[in-house]
Amino acid sequence: MPDAPVLSALPFTGGPFAETGYVLRCEHTGRMAFVDPGAAAGRMVDFVRESGGKVDAVFLTHGHLDHVEGLAVVRAFTDAPIHIHPEARPFLEHAPTLAERYGLKMEGPLPPPDCAFIPGESVLVGEVELQVRFAPGHAPGHVILHAPSAGLALVGDVVFAGSIGRTDLPGGDFQELMASIRSEVLTLPDQTRLLPGHGPETTVAVERMGNPFLISQTGGGYA
Ligand SMILES: [Zn+2]
Ligand SMILES: [Zn+2]
Repeated sequence: MPDAPVLSALPFTGGPFAETGYVLRCEHTGRMAFVDPGAAAGRMVDFVRESGGKVDAVFLTHGHLDHVEGLAVVRAFTDAPIHIHPEARPFLEHAPTLAERYGLKMEGPLPPPDCAFIPGESVLVGEVELQVRFAPGHAPGHVILHAPSAGLALVGDVVFAGSIGRTDLPGGDFQELMASIRSEVLTLPDQTRLLPGHGPETTVAVERMGNPFLISQTGGGYA
């Protein structure tokens, strides 16, 4: 008998940065979570409202504007605790100023986070465990959320299909990002689905073999 999916992850993309947030749903309990509610947060909230699901948490992979700009929209709908790594928190606090600089209209003020991600520990959506992996380099305090039982990982802006996160923004560091990808992404099982903050989903195996940034970094050792 094939295994039923234990966790679904629905993508919602929007805004000038084409950022993708996700609605997670534990298929056993129906409990839900928001991941990186950006410009599409309104549609994410509508989806959750219409499905009648209860929200356990809001997870932020990092504090960049495009991943957090919909937080106020989400907070108006649910009091579920907002999780972010402490090192990412200053970016979250700076987001409204940054939005102004980009000339973006942002629903605000942004609600403060409630919980600090602790790398190595797990967070829950219903019955599904998501392991918190520390993966800085694109942004300080960036985390990846890996659900081993569901075979998927929310990777934010660490790695994309055929590309990697930019490292030219404040606190970015190319060598640190490559180290994070080696230790926190390429160590995941090959068939793990990688759900990024921009662009289509991919898998560990596909990126290990075909991502030009990873091949050049590893001398082809992973290819
Ligand atoms: Zn980012
Ligand atoms: Zn982004």
